[in-house]
This record gives sequence, structure tokens and C-alpha cells, in this order.
Amino acid sequence: MPADDDTMVSLYAAREKIQPRSVSGVFARWRWLMVWLTQLVFYGLPWLQWNARQAVLFDLEARRFYLFGLVLYPQDFIYLTGLLVVSALSLFLFTAVAGRLWCGFACPQTVYTEIFMWIEKRVEGDRSARLRLDNAPMSAAKLGKRTLKHVLWIAVALWTGFSFVGYFTPIRELGALTLALALGPWQLFWVLFYGFATYGNAGFLREQVCKYMCPYARFQSAMFDRDTMIVTYDARRGEPRGARSKKADPKAMGLGSCVDCTLCVQVCPTGIDIRKGLQYDCIGCAACIDVCDDVMDKVGYPRGLIRFSTENGMANGWNMRQMLRRAWRPRVLVYTGVLLAIALGLGLSLFMRTPLKVDVIRDRGALARQVEEGRVENVFRLQIMNATETTQRYAISVSGLPGVSLASDAEVEVLSTEVRAVAARVQLPPDAASPGSHPIQFHIRATDAAGVQVTEKAAFVVPR
Ligand code: SF4
Ligand code: SF4
Repeated sequence: MPADDDTMVSLYAAREKIQPRSVSGVFARWRWLMVWLTQLVFYGLPWLQWNARQAVLFDLEARRFYLFGLVLYPQDFIYLTGLLVVSALSLFLFTAVAGRLWCGFACPQTVYTEIFMWIEKRVEGDRSARLRLDNAPMSAAKLGKRTLKHVLWIAVALWTGFSFVGYFTPIRELGALTLALALGPWQLFWVLFYGFATYGNAGFLREQVCKYMCPYARFQSAMFDRDTMIVTYDARRGEPRGARSKKADPKAMGLGSCVDCTLCVQVCPTGIDIRKGLQYDCIGCAACIDVCDDVMDKVGYPRGLIRFSTENGMANGWNMRQMLRRAWRPRVLVYTGVLLAIALGLGLSLFMRTPLKVDVIRDRGALARQVEEGRVENVFRLQIMNATETTQRYAISVSGLPGVSLASDAEVEVLSTEVRAVAARVQLPPDAASPGSHPIQFHIRATDAAGVQVTEKAAFVVPR
């Protein structure tokens, strides 16, 4: 700013609070269906039992992850990585085909904002009542409504935080600890942190999260092309816009179908005017489609002035079938191919996974020693992980050198999902091998479960 110029130019626009008008219609029903589905899963899953324990539990303390019948250990991290890769690729594929449908219908930010807005509407009334309340001076009635709204928001937020932590600590235990006011410091921290994030994001920040904070919103334009399905205003049909009486003939007045009622702007949760064209702020929620269809019904014009379409579809006047034919284009085929290959690989490796893991660790304290009759002995520590939910007995044997044998217990019992460390004493007859290190193999086989066996390599040391 020049020194002699006292005009201050702000580079930041102050946020204008958006009070979206409520809307009904096909897409509003889909949004609510997604709210129910996602929240039934999120709130309900931690309460589901499987094999007398929580069906989905990421038990960080015990370093075990339970996914229904699967018990995963940190060594199985590759599966979780694979799951994340599949989720990310699915999102890429979905975005390339259907644009921001995820943002508008299933993203947690959208879903919680929808729930919080529903509470707001129940307590403070519809859009015009809320705008009046915003502008009214503080009074007992206003304070009462505001307090009730925030109490309800906080209740939902805390329940959300509690459910989130219930994926990492058995939720029934967590419930009992909460009732006894005996939550541990970390449990309390995460319940409050996640609850506070939900309260802040869905109650206050709302569209700001989508516009400025969400990384997915930043890079998804790279996945868009002219055949991606987006919410579009048909400017050729709608313009020139203008108010008119219901009986008036728009053609005679030189008008298009848009009656300029601005309802599409009033229902928009991000406060944009879709008639200005594709904007990155549009989350694809289709609220403007619902309300505009309603307006078209009322004035007696065909629906679809605002609709799901593609840029190519709009430019060429294509119908839905013609646009869907373009869905199978090279980038979609590449995403689909990679996604299918990874999902198939992940599924196969999970299907073929042996529910038994063994780590062989050499006993550093006793590298190699001579025992009775001149035999050479090496001691190893076997960490046997039983990744099933029943107690298992395992037979241990060793091979790889002539006459090599196990001098310790050849059978061991490991409780369900437990890890047991077993000392394995391996002996070799005198002069069976030259001095130095020789490869041997441990074989661990479940005695009651056919095909469950693991072979692990180790090195047997013969001293000079
Ligand atoms: S709702 Fe439809 S008719 Fe009304 S302003 Fe928006 S585009 Fe025009
Ligand atoms: S422009 Fe329409 S689809 Fe986009 S965010 Fe606003 S209401 Fe939703």
C-alpha cells in the first residue's frame, strides 16, 4: 500500500453466513437415504459382535485388528494398505464418471452438516425464520433457541466422538468407563477431539471445509473431463432469464425458461449460483436440481433446466443414454483395470492367507555350543502367532542338514489370537557339517487344521 494512500484493500473476503433454504425432491431423498445408511453403519458397526468379541476393532494396544472373521497383525499391514489403495482408486474412478457425487451425498462433512442443519431447522425454524433470528437482538427466546441448538449439536458431536473411539477400544467397555466417569486420558482426549471436530465442521465451518480445507476438492479437477457427469444449468434453454406471469408466453417475451426466482441459489449449501457455470465450489448435492424442477412444475415447463449432464452432453444436446455411452473412455478404463487388478490381488491373497505366522529369532546369548556326545546345539526363539480364534496345537520340526533334530518340545499350544514365544533347541551330530553357517528350515504345522503350515528359514552355526 503506498504511504500516501490511506485506502486499505483487504485481500480476504469476510465469510457471509449461509442459511440454505430446505428442499424436497428426488435428490433430497437420496441424500437422506445416504445419511441413514452411512450413520447406521458408522454408529452401529462397533456394537456388532462376532465370535464373542467386537466385529470391527482396531485394537492398537494389543496390536491386533479384527475385521469380522479376520484377525490381522501389524505384519498384515499390507492388507490395510491395499484396502486404502482400493478405496482411493474407487474414488478416482467414481469422480471421473460421476463428478462430485461423493461430496454431495456420502462425504462425512456433507452427512453431518445435513444432520446439524436438520436440528437447526427443528429448533430455529426455516430459512426466513433463521435469518430473522440472526438479525434480531439478543432476547430470552433467542438465547433459549440458540442454547437448545448447541446442546443438541454437542450431544450428536460427543456421540460421534464416542463411536469413533469405539473402533479402537471395545465400545462396551468404553460405555461402562464413560458411565463410571473413568475414561483414560487418551480415550477422553479422542472422544472430545473428534466430537469437537464434528461440532466445529458441521455446525460452523460447513461449506468452508469443502471450499478451503478439503484436499480431495483441490485435486479432483484433474480427474474431470468433458464427459464427467456434473450438475449443470442449461443456459441455452434458460436464457435470457426473467420474471413473467404464469400465463405469459416466454417466446413472445423473448425469454428463456429461467424465471429468475433465485431459489437455486437459496438452497445451495455453498451459496453459489449454478447459472454462472461450472464452479469448483459446487459439491454436486443436486439441491438446485430438486428446487428448479419444482419451479418448472409450477410454471408448467419441462423439468431439467438444471440437471446432471456432461459438458459434451450439454454442448451437443445429448440425452442420458448418449452421455452414458461415453462413460467407457480411456481414463475410466485405466482406473477400472488398475482397480480390478489390485482388488483381485488383495482378495486372492486374503483368501490364501495362512492363519499362522512364525518369526525365528536367533538366541544371541548362546550362539552355538557343544552339548553331550559332542553334538552341536543352536538355540532359537520362535514367535508363533495363532491368527485364528480357536486354540491351536502346532508341531515343530526342523530340516536342512543331515541328522539335524529338535531337542526341545516338538509340539506347542497357542491360545486363540495369541503370540507365544518358544525356545527351540536344534542339535546336529558331531562332524555332520563343516564349521560355519548353514541354512536350515523350521516347519510349523497345525495338528488339527489341514494345510495350515509355515516354513521359516534360519542359519545353523557350527563353531570351529
Ligand atoms: S431455480 Fe431454476 S428457474 Fe429459478 S432461478 Fe434457478 S434456474 Fe432459474
Ligand atoms: S450448485 Fe447445486 S449441486 Fe452445486 S452445491 Fe449448489 S445446490 Fe449443490
